[in-house]
Amino acid sequence: MYQPCSYLRFQKGYRPFEMDRPWCAGEGVGVGEFVRGMQELLWPTRCVCCEQPGELLCERCRRQLPWIDQQWACPCCGAPLGRLTCTECKKDWPLRSCVCALPFRGPGARLVTCFKDGHELRLAPVLAAAIATALDEASAWPAPDQHPRFDPLAVDALCFVPATREAYLRRGFDHMELGARELSWLLELRLAAVLVRAEGSDQRKLGREDRARNLADSVEVLGDVADMHLLLVDDVITTGASVAACAAALDKRGAKSVTACALARVW
Ligand SMILES: [Zn+2]
Ligand SMILES: [Zn+2]
Repeated sequence: MYQPCSYLRFQKGYRPFEMDRPWCAGEGVGVGEFVRGMQELLWPTRCVCCEQPGELLCERCRRQLPWIDQQWACPCCGAPLGRLTCTECKKDWPLRSCVCALPFRGPGARLVTCFKDGHELRLAPVLAAAIATALDEASAWPAPDQHPRFDPLAVDALCFVPATREAYLRRGFDHMELGARELSWLLELRLAAVLVRAEGSDQRKLGREDRARNLADSVEVLGDVADMHLLLVDDVITTGASVAACAAALDKRGAKSVTACALARVW
């Protein structure tokens, strides 16, 4: 199994609060730290996978993450073992390549659920580090265009699949914006929050075909993406309808290429 090496931050010594990120600047030391200390006393941080107190994702669980082996993943849709048996890929797939870190079960599913439905926003850097680790590995393998599936030097900006208005109002935050911010910081890529979703029905209640139809009309691009090579990030890729609709919208506005990445892949 692949052992991530470039993103050691994820392997050891990971501390979610030690973040010199500009968007956390307001918290600093002082009151924020005191409040966090009290919170920690009252509700200790526990591992999202095994409940052990201490870290959001404990070292033992980090070491046992069931990484998708990028060598055998489908270079088009990111499905595990897709190189041998992919049945998901469609001819009109608008993505250059797609890289997913974990299968959507066990730890992969726990991370996503605790992050967006459990409101554990501190998981944003964990999500980003896992995606960065997968991208790092995928950079060693070719996309269908024979270039590396991921090359940070060949990407102009990072964008994310935006939450629907309904989901945003329900949760009070756009979890993928938080994840994308962390990922852009890790990969040193510019964040381009250019995608918005018009009002539409919640994807979760829809079947495969309805999802595609609902999405195709609902994604809009605000901002100039002409001639850009973009990295598009999402939490989970199920049928690929969300990332495909976003990529198609970006393509329509003149983007040169869209490579998708996600924490988890349903398979
Ligand atoms: Zn654990
Ligand atoms: Zn595929």
